[in-house]
Amino acid sequence: MRKIAAEEAFSIPEVADTLAELVSEPIAASDYHQIKAIYGEGSTSPVRAKLCDLEEDRLAEMDAHGVDMHLLSLSSPGVQMFGADAACALAELANDRLADVVHRRPERFAGLAAFAPQTPRRAAVEMRRSIDELHLHGFLVNSHTNDEYLDDPKYWPILEAAEGLDRCLYIHPRCASSGLAEPLRAHGLLGAIWGFGLEVGTHVLRLILSGTLDRFPDLSLCIGHMGEAIPFWQWRIDDRWRSAPVAGASKLELTPSEYLKRNVVITTSGVEDPLALDYSIKALGAERVLWAIDHPFQRTATAVSFMDRAPVTDDQREMLYHRNAERVFHIS
Ligand code: MN
Repeated sequence: MRKIAAEEAFSIPEVADTLAELVSEPIAASDYHQIKAIYGEGSTSPVRAKLCDLEEDRLAEMDAHGVDMHLLSLSSPGVQMFGADAACALAELANDRLADVVHRRPERFAGLAAFAPQTPRRAAVEMRRSIDELHLHGFLVNSHTNDEYLDDPKYWPILEAAEGLDRCLYIHPRCASSGLAEPLRAHGLLGAIWGFGLEVGTHVLRLILSGTLDRFPDLSLCIGHMGEAIPFWQWRIDDRWRSAPVAGASKLELTPSEYLKRNVVITTSGVEDPLALDYSIKALGAERVLWAIDHPFQRTATAVSFMDRAPVTDDQREMLYHRNAERVFHIS
């Protein structure tokens, strides 16, 4: 059975070096410690090397576990913490390198393009180039940029480009925006253990509840980590939206959960829990759930054994392992 892993991180030395520079002095952004641990001077983490390796250990690990393809994306926080000019240049460079490996090994790699939300119109130009010239498969944004979210009309050129190009926009975590981060700074809550899901879940709900998806009805969004808890919350979100309208809530054409089932697909990245999978399939439909590993932050072996043994039908396993990814990301 073909196995396409849909949220697999990579980086390039130029982006890694610029992140190292960014954290050479303490910065206020809540991502500081995470970036420093991976990229900071003197770091002993193996993650940077694993991110920058595409065709050696990565391919060997894929082969060892029967993984056919990584859908690659520039690792969080991407270029979103850099100044606008550097961010645009590094996004273009990362996309060029990504396209190069995808074209040399089209059976092993597909790619989601990076872009710099700092300059939405230039971001849209790069998004167009990524699809029309580089033939990449979609886009990935690492949630907020300078504490702002994509429902802000200034970012609409990005949503317009994704919708117009008919390519999915993956909203991947980074550490929470300043206001959301404060209570998470204690007890290690900022990272993947809790803060990442809160950050991306909030981002998606902003896009839904602001009415942004009425403006961009054909926009396709993907979120990882079994839907960042949103599937589990959908009944309550609908219920409170319906019965307790509050100041600031927008008029919507659909109920919140209807947007979820129209505009959003999820991946299993980093959540190898059969109960959560079963729930998500029942809540959203098997056609909206894609398998992912989250390499190199999660183990390939456990992601594969989880999906191999998941309590789903053979037809559903085919959908999760490859058919949904082929459809959503235009992978041949
Ligand atoms: Mn990830």
